[in-house]
Parts: sequence; structure tokens; C-alpha cells
Amino acid sequence: MLINIHTHFNQNNKQEILQSDKIENENYFSFGIVNKTYPDDPAFPLFLDQVYAHKNCLAIGEIGIDKNSTINLNEQIQTFKKQIFDSEKHQLPVILHCVKGWNEILHVKKEINPNQPWVFHGFRKTNLLNSVIDSGTFISIGTAVIWDEKLQEYVKKIPLERLFLETDNDTNYKILDVYEKIASIKNISLQTLEDQLYFNTINTFKKWEIG
Ligand SMILES: [Zn+2]
Repeated sequence: MLINIHTHFNQNNKQEILQSDKIENENYFSFGIVNKTYPDDPAFPLFLDQVYAHKNCLAIGEIGIDKNSTINLNEQIQTFKKQIFDSEKHQLPVILHCVKGWNEILHVKKEINPNQPWVFHGFRKTNLLNSVIDSGTFISIGTAVIWDEKLQEYVKKIPLERLFLETDNDTNYKILDVYEKIASIKNISLQTLEDQLYFNTINTFKKWEIG
């Protein structure tokens, strides 16, 4: 099974986690607030409880820090922390969006010391690799690995048991392209990679149905 842990486009039911802003009754999905103001509506926390309790809601995300955003940094940190508390409360893993914000994210991780797994999605910042690995965070690699030679070198250092793959919002490649590239870099068979990532998925995204 080719599992895509983060995509903005619905391609295969139940083999991917769709980034969505509503409850998905047919697809696994993640829901989160990033690059936006946290809604002031007093009914919003009730809505969130419903979303997170849904059987198909597998993760809170993408959430995090984005220094290219127009939202001020303190507000972003507060929004991020609220959702980390929700992740702990609802026992849902986190899909991290990080643009130049790893220090802030790491600070929140040290402060809250969460039990839920965190997955750094669309990882490309090779200079952060050791810090991300040391923090216990999973790493999700996207389609950039197909052409980014520096990232290809660093992928060799990512332990298979800490790895996920995704296509995010790229329509030029399929998840199979990412799997094939990684299998070739790691010098393992496609089946071995599929088996390991399936194991990672069911152990991290606990609401994923074992099939
Ligand atoms: Zn995304």
C-alpha cells in the first residue's frame, strides 16, 4: 500500500490523509489552523471537538509556524499551542508546517513535552535534520526529493522508522514517484519501504484502520 500522509487533493480513499477544512466522511483527513487568525467564535471549540472526534480525523495539522505569513509571530505561537493542547486532549498526532520556525516549534515542544507524535511535513531544511531527529519528531518527505540532490543525500540519514512520504500540493508527481525515489536512495525494495511505512502509519496515526 502506498500511503500518502499529506495531500491537498483527494486521490485514493483511505490510502492518504487529506488536508481538509471540513469533516470528510469518505476520506482520512487532518484539520488545523495555520497562516490564519484563530476564530473568535465562542462555538468554535465545540466544532473542533466534533471534528477531532470524527473517526476519519487522523491528525491535527497542518499547524505550526510560518515566518512568511502576515500573522504576527506571537499570535502564531498562541494558535499553535492551543492546537497542541487539543492534540494531547484528543490523542491525535500533529502534522507540522514549518517555515523558518523550527526554533519556536522546538521551544513549544520542550515547554509542553507532548506525548503525541509530531510529524514535520514537507521537510527540506537539511541543516535542521539532526535537531529534528534528536527531538523525536517524524520526518515526512515530499516530491522535492525527486530533484533536490542535497535532500537526497540527507534522506540517507533519516531512519526508516522515523519516515513518512507525501505529495502535499504538488500535482506534477504521484506518491509512487516519491516511494520509488526513496527506495532507490535507501537501496531497498519498494515492498520493504511500503511495509515499513505502513508500520509507521498504524503506529502513529492510531485511527488508521488496520487492513
Ligand atoms: Zn500542505
